[in-house]
Amino acid sequence: MSNQVVYNFNAGPAVLPKPVMLKAQEEFVNYRGCGYGLVEESHRSPLFEEVIQAAEANVRKLMGISDDYEVLFLQGGASLQFAMVPMNLMVPGRKIAFCDTGEWSHKAMKEAKILGAGIDLVYDGSTSNFSTIGDPTSWTFQQDAAYAHICSNNTIYGTEYQTYPDTGAVPLVADMSSDIMSRVVDVSRFGLIFAGAQKNIGPAGVTLVIIRRDLAERCPETVPTMLRYSTHIKSKSLFNTPSTFSIYMLRLVTDWMLEQGGVPTVQKLNEIKAARLYAAMDRSGFYRGTCDVACRSKMNVCFRIGAGDEDLEKKFVSEAKAAGLIGLKGHRAVGGLRASIYNAMPLAGIEALTTFMAEFARRNG
Ligand SMILES: *Cc1c(COP(=O)(O)O)cnc(C)c1O
Repeated sequence: MSNQVVYNFNAGPAVLPKPVMLKAQEEFVNYRGCGYGLVEESHRSPLFEEVIQAAEANVRKLMGISDDYEVLFLQGGASLQFAMVPMNLMVPGRKIAFCDTGEWSHKAMKEAKILGAGIDLVYDGSTSNFSTIGDPTSWTFQQDAAYAHICSNNTIYGTEYQTYPDTGAVPLVADMSSDIMSRVVDVSRFGLIFAGAQKNIGPAGVTLVIIRRDLAERCPETVPTMLRYSTHIKSKSLFNTPSTFSIYMLRLVTDWMLEQGGVPTVQKLNEIKAARLYAAMDRSGFYRGTCDVACRSKMNVCFRIGAGDEDLEKKFVSEAKAAGLIGLKGHRAVGGLRASIYNAMPLAGIEALTTFMAEFARRNG
């Protein structure tokens, strides 16, 4: 077994804070002195109740969520939310506004169509191959739309909203799977926020949903019990057996975030990390960013070598791996290279990557 330091740039599941991993290891077999593991315990026990309540309290505190919103821990990933959101929020005769900034918003739109919803495509990023988000402040929303859907950070293409669109009275729904809690967000601007945990706030298996209470009451009679937000609100995310381990891990990650000083502190570090990596890329004359500079993601940094030299990119990925820098291959839909630098990626990981990038460019440029 190797003791080499490894920096994990995988897009998701992704790096978790080292202190959280160590704490989970320490507690796994004997949870806080009770003699057995939390994963062996009932989800209806006081032991687990404390965990899920602490997880919710942490999320509320970190994101500044008011009592007008419910916080839920669901299963099925962000992908189930692509269907559950329209199932619960669509209104007969009213369209759903979609801002298509890449694969994930596109998939969400597909589910809404399957359910028979009319679509108002407010922004179509396909014309630019999703390399830009354009200017969301210039978008207009028909005020009778049932809701508007955005994906705040485009994990695959490496673009991220710098400002959110003004939807007026139309509830704004955001897929924040890959940038949740990476920067300060005014939750009161949103009707619903969802995020698979496995990028910024935990392992796979739990999906965070933040929903404005009044919206949960919209749901048509025909929606099955398990797929209604109101079901999970009533039962406090314990309608059926939740992913207890994932919720426990989310609690540890959010404890860690609070210890760091909360989202503002984490955001500052994320800005420094991204700025250093983009600067190294831009000044190299060897690597080339793939997105509009104005929309660059602070979570997923996508780049190519030269005009897209696939052989050199392959070599980059394998040599980086040998140097302890893993997960740098771009998404299969776009190719190239991608460094995912979520909250838990330390600054030392960015330094190791930029050092490697400079050396690789020197040897191969
Ligand atoms: C990863 C990702 C998803 C898919 O999440 P699952 O939990 O695998 O369904 C959806 N949206 C965004 C923005 C993502 O990054």
